[in-house]
Amino acid sequence: MIGDNLQTVRARIEAACQAARRDARAVTLLAVSKTFGPEAVREAFAAGQTAFGENYLREAVDKMSALHDLPLQWHCIGPIQSNKTRLVAEHFSWAHTIDRLRVAQRLSEQRPPDMAPLQVCVQVNIDAGPTKSGVAPQDALRLVREVAKLPRLQVRGLMTIPDAWPDFDDQVAVHAKTRALFDAIAAAGGPGLDHFDTLSMGMTADLEAAVQAGSTMVRVGTAIFGARPRP
Ligand SMILES: *Cc1c(COP(=O)(O)O)cnc(C)c1O
Repeated sequence: MIGDNLQTVRARIEAACQAARRDARAVTLLAVSKTFGPEAVREAFAAGQTAFGENYLREAVDKMSALHDLPLQWHCIGPIQSNKTRLVAEHFSWAHTIDRLRVAQRLSEQRPPDMAPLQVCVQVNIDAGPTKSGVAPQDALRLVREVAKLPRLQVRGLMTIPDAWPDFDDQVAVHAKTRALFDAIAAAGGPGLDHFDTLSMGMTADLEAAVQAGSTMVRVGTAIFGARPRP
């Protein structure tokens, strides 16, 4: 069942890439396994999925230890409080939700020397939701450049979670804003920005629009694992 769902999602990504005249290999699928147990992750791995996204750090670390026999890549996509940075620094390959320098500094200080640099995206509050995490678009370049100076982090790009629009064109329009910001930052460049290549956007409901706008990493939970219990 999870295997079938993964095939369906991969087909959606391929169709979206075709419609956008993009190479399907340019879009990575991140399977968002939050609230689902290790067995669900095992099933997805058996169907060829290796990159997984998690929001809740304790839950994630327990799941990782239950799955340590598998070669999985873990992405932190949930909010990171500054007193929880150590869990992220010591257990994840990627963190998508950097929205202030203090958290990035702690992650860099706490990244163990025997691990590869933590791959990070700066989260942007692209549609200015007052309660949402993410740096304001006009502050993104400055934060990206500060993060790029930290020795144990490698800055990879931008991440967004825009409000859910039912209409495809509205979805594309908001994702296109993030794409434009991404292009502007990549063009501005700077030290440590040579791997700035990732646009983490698009979920179950809007992955086609995100791919249309240039997403390189879609984060899909529901379409792979099913509906989550409400928090
Ligand atoms: C839960 C979550 C997702 C997955 O959402 P679905 O709608 O289930 O695909 C993607 N990104 C983030 C940041 C999430 O918290």
